Amino acid sequence: MPDELPPCRRTTWAEAEGWADRVAEAIVRADRVPQTLVALTRGGWVPARLLADRLGLKRLLALRAQHWGVTARPSGRAELTEGLSGPVKGETVLVLDDITDTGESLELATRHVAEAGASRVESAAFLHIAHSKFQPDYYAEVIPRDRWVWVVFPWNYWEDLAALGRRAIERSGTVDGARELLRSTCHLDVPAEDLARALGRPRER
Ligand code: AMP
Repeated sequence: MPDELPPCRRTTWAEAEGWADRVAEAIVRADRVPQTLVALTRGGWVPARLLADRLGLKRLLALRAQHWGVTARPSGRAELTEGLSGPVKGETVLVLDDITDTGESLELATRHVAEAGASRVESAAFLHIAHSKFQPDYYAEVIPRDRWVWVVFPWNYWEDLAALGRRAIERSGTVDGARELLRSTCHLDVPAEDLARALGRPRER
């Protein structure tokens, strides 16, 4: 179970481009370019857009899964909380997320897409944690189970920093103390102005 202030790995847009290249190459090599991409809301959106660009795909649908509450706080079992944004009957589909951790979100989503009548369903994640009970067909990088981290994706930076920063302030009492705690405990070395900006950000709804 992840700690309230978990070890983190901050990742960059350049890394994300590299993951997208690797996943796209694997799909092309396997001759499995789908007709439709289904992006899990919200983690799969940016990955899906990067992949659509590389694979020449125009049909991109959303499916909302909720599992983790705010930054590394699990909120019970994964659930699909909003249905597919369009039909997939008879389509070859790739379901996409940024990372598989427990794997529950992607497992539920692929089952749902199959039940909605897709003719073929495959799945991909940029990163795959080895303890996940669901293994995507394509992924760019594996994180070993004993090296679990909360991955701070560039598309989740402000949200993660706000959540972790608030928890760090509760413990340390000051913004400077919180910044030091993020550095020593979460391995997140962030500029003071970023932390101040994140703390002033509206809370998640
Ligand atoms: P899961 O159902 O446990 O495979 O997790 C699904 C979603 O939770 C992913 O799409 C991520 O957005 C988020 N998530 C879970 N674990 C992590 C992690 N270790 N680092 C960053 N995001 C995560």
